[in-house]
Amino acid sequence: YGEAPESPAPAQDWLEAHDRRFGLFIDGAFKKPGKDLFETRNPATGKRLAELTEARPADVNRAVASAKAAQPEWAALGGAGRARFLYALARLVQKHARLFAVLESLDNGKPIRESRDVDIPLVIRHFYHHAGWAQVMEAEFPGHTPIGVAGQIIPWNFPLLMLAWKIAPALATGNTVVLKPAEFTSLTALLFAEICQQAGLPPGVVNIVTGHGPVGEAIARHKDVGKLAFTGSTEVGRHLRQVTAGSGKRLTLELGGKSPFIVFDDADLDSAVEGIVDAIWFNQGQVCCAGSRLLVQESIAGTFYGKIRNRMEGLRLGDPLDKSIDIGAMVDPVQLSRVEAMVARGVEEGAVLHQAGHALPETGCYYPATLMTGVEPSDTLAQEEIFGPVLVAMTFRTPAEAVQLANNSRYGLAASIWSENINLALGTAPQIKAGVVWVNATNQFDAAAGFGGVRESGFGREGGREGILDYLTAPTPVAPRLKTTK
Ligand code: NAD
Repeated sequence: YGEAPESPAPAQDWLEAHDRRFGLFIDGAFKKPGKDLFETRNPATGKRLAELTEARPADVNRAVASAKAAQPEWAALGGAGRARFLYALARLVQKHARLFAVLESLDNGKPIRESRDVDIPLVIRHFYHHAGWAQVMEAEFPGHTPIGVAGQIIPWNFPLLMLAWKIAPALATGNTVVLKPAEFTSLTALLFAEICQQAGLPPGVVNIVTGHGPVGEAIARHKDVGKLAFTGSTEVGRHLRQVTAGSGKRLTLELGGKSPFIVFDDADLDSAVEGIVDAIWFNQGQVCCAGSRLLVQESIAGTFYGKIRNRMEGLRLGDPLDKSIDIGAMVDPVQLSRVEAMVARGVEEGAVLHQAGHALPETGCYYPATLMTGVEPSDTLAQEEIFGPVLVAMTFRTPAEAVQLANNSRYGLAASIWSENINLALGTAPQIKAGVVWVNATNQFDAAAGFGGVRESGFGREGGREGILDYLTAPTPVAPRLKTTK
């Protein structure tokens, strides 16, 4: 505490060097900013950071054509050849880590402690990890071939990290990329484009096109895009599934969640409270796998809620560049009003509202740490993704009831179980329908472990061996030659 805030100067200088206007990154070069520009703002101050180009359909065509032209040579480099570029990208992000972190916090509103200590280190790790995969590609996946051009659409909650999850495996496997960042948070993707130039990446291997939903849809519909990787809302994911149906495109969808956080009566409650802080107040709760549904055993519910409320009061909310801040700004005013409306609806439905008494800054998209108790399993609050710092609590009596409540959701992305009885925890885990179940932990991410959902949280995996396979075409099986006797 008491440390000087992180200086925005390096990021401001970088923006100024570009006159705060950005063109698209196509075929290894930045195009001139287009006529159709849109603004990206700092959600903590409301101030404009830069203007970005809204890509037109012709721009998307050019980006895909460039990716298509570059792909055969990129694949022909072989795994070891591509690994050199992935290592270079990892090292260059590392070199500019501070600039990336500050730019991310300015554009997204997340606390600098998170962008500096979580987002950017995980990005670097992801590129190093996939450089390793590239090196062993031919040995590990004999006969597999790249799909070709990968279209990639990402959300605003972990802008550079979601880019890394998309681009690193695509490049390692010999695919080339057209990526669209989210309209609220495109700046670190554009800085990454510069890093691609510095790394000497061949033109066309990575193309970044900025803009809104229709730009993503143009990528999704393009006939030369062989694989579409999407992370975002379940609604848009469903739409993209329809758009790509029958096209022969490979599709992976990483969508929303309403992940249960189950606390049994024998849990270490103080550790579980720290788990809650990480599960629902990390990144202002704007996390696809946020532990947003607390299921707590009835006998300890009162005690546990008391501990959570105490801890909420200790959280610091404010300027994302302040290094002691736990809760920064929500990404934009629309997201903020969505959360306010959901909470108001919950109160109407009879939930009890507990909010930390943070002094909210006068400007900026801030929302306090919130706990809602007295929620019924069928209530909107218990079923719909809020995507904000709002924890919704319910109680259970028996382990069977905990499992039943946990699975009472259309989603299935993640879950977290807290108990000192390892047999209970490990016996419960496989009964939960989710892509990942953490025991006495939350938000454990590793480039080596596949991440993804079941049910309406999507399909396909990012990270690990499974993530690699989602970017490869399996060899065509050849029937064994039978010996014929005359
Ligand atoms: P969103 O679906 O509105 O937008 C995601 C991206 O899709 C953006 O780049 C957007 O411009 C683009 N898009 C919008 N309409 C499109 C269309 N018709 N065709 C193609 N692209 C289109 O989601 P969001 O609000 O940015 O992100 C929040 C959601 O993302 C939450 O539901 C969250 O749970 C989910 N998410 C999931 C994961 C995961 O790994 N499962 C990770 C992060 C976020």
